[in-house]
Amino acid sequence: MAVTRTFSIIKPDATRRNLTGGVTRMLEEAGLCVIASKRIQMSRQQAEGFYAVHKERPFFGDLVAFMTSGPVVVQVLEGEDAVKRNRDIMGATNPADAAEGTIRKTYAESIEANSAHGSDSEENAKIEIDFFFKPEEIVG
Ligand code: ADP
Ligand code: MG
Repeated sequence: MAVTRTFSIIKPDATRRNLTGGVTRMLEEAGLCVIASKRIQMSRQQAEGFYAVHKERPFFGDLVAFMTSGPVVVQVLEGEDAVKRNRDIMGATNPADAAEGTIRKTYAESIEANSAHGSDSEENAKIEIDFFFKPEEIVG
């Protein structure tokens, strides 16, 4: 299995509850290394651009409002099969459906305020990493 990269966000519900370390620890224990990390306040424009794929969904406006409601921590993660590893440790979108031991089962408040984002493919991981990081900010 190849070492690859993925993109992660610790969402505002988690930063608000001081869970940056808790979420990061679960990522690290799943075998992922944080090779870039910064805490930012996402602008409305950034959130709309980042989630543009969902712009026709009924929850889009609420999602943008939520993602801009407080600080987030954007991260680049590296490890074996990083995209899948991250999706596995994150768990299902709805915490009610998420498996025991996953980030969302452990920490999420709701289907919207679900504590973490993880890229869903290698292609999207590259796009999402480039959306938030300059190459020199990533130290693998
Ligand atoms: P995932 O984050 O698991 O890849 P999606 O890409 O489908 O899930 O959705 C992006 C984000 O939009 C979710 O993580 C969640 O914050 C929010 N979301 C998804 N579905 C809903 C919904 N039915 N109601 C409210 N928010 C939702
Ligand atoms: Mg998604």
